[in-house]
Amino acid sequence: MKWIVSNHKMNLTKEQIETYVNQISSLKSMNKLVFCPSNIYFSYFQNQENFQLGSQNVADRNMGALTGEVAVEQLKSLNVKYVIIGHSERRNILNETEEMIHQKLKLTLENGMIPILCIGEKEEEISEREIILKEEIDSAFSEQSNLDQVIIAYEPIWAIGTGRIPTPEEITSITKWIKDYVKEKYQVICPVLYGGSVSENNIEELNTVLNIDGYLIGGTSLDVEKLKVIIEKTEEEV
Ligand code: PEP
Repeated sequence: MKWIVSNHKMNLTKEQIETYVNQISSLKSMNKLVFCPSNIYFSYFQNQENFQLGSQNVADRNMGALTGEVAVEQLKSLNVKYVIIGHSERRNILNETEEMIHQKLKLTLENGMIPILCIGEKEEEISEREIILKEEIDSAFSEQSNLDQVIIAYEPIWAIGTGRIPTPEEITSITKWIKDYVKEKYQVICPVLYGGSVSENNIEELNTVLNIDGYLIGGTSLDVEKLKVIIEKTEEEV
């Protein structure tokens, strides 16, 4: 059983989301399917039993005066179970800081939701990858409780939306390194997802990586037919 998490980012109009929800309503899978649409579309995804709902973001403070943000309490009241935290687009385009990511993780855990913490290196940082990953994990994880609830998404930034992916051998060794690191330092076993240009064309190759617990999928998740191929091919591996 693997997680297949769809991250729609800032995509799809109202008409498109209606069609999309229609198409996924009949999806059946032994994998755990999670959909993270734009927050404005959560109501279209309610009352579905074949998948869970995730948010692409959460505010770094409790409900109150913060125009344009979404509070963890609000997400919880809509049965949102998963929250993507620290996506590289938010880190790099919106300048989200390690401190904000730490706070988001804390609020999500305190409210019994499952954070999907995104970590990953830029292309020019490949040679110091472990230092980067360590910094991102440590600043998010330090002094937190319930870390056994965290899912980590390893997303090399150079692979996001580019069509390029690391080799299965590289993903195997990085995933092992992440799992060993959090186990040794924080005494937790965290599932690790891979994200970055996952598609219907490379899913068979990616499924040869034995120690990944699933995928975080951006662009390809917008096309239900392609997503179905990913789900089916991953099912064969279960
Ligand atoms: C992402 O942004 O989390 C992602 C994995 O995007 P893509 O699949 O489009 O590379």
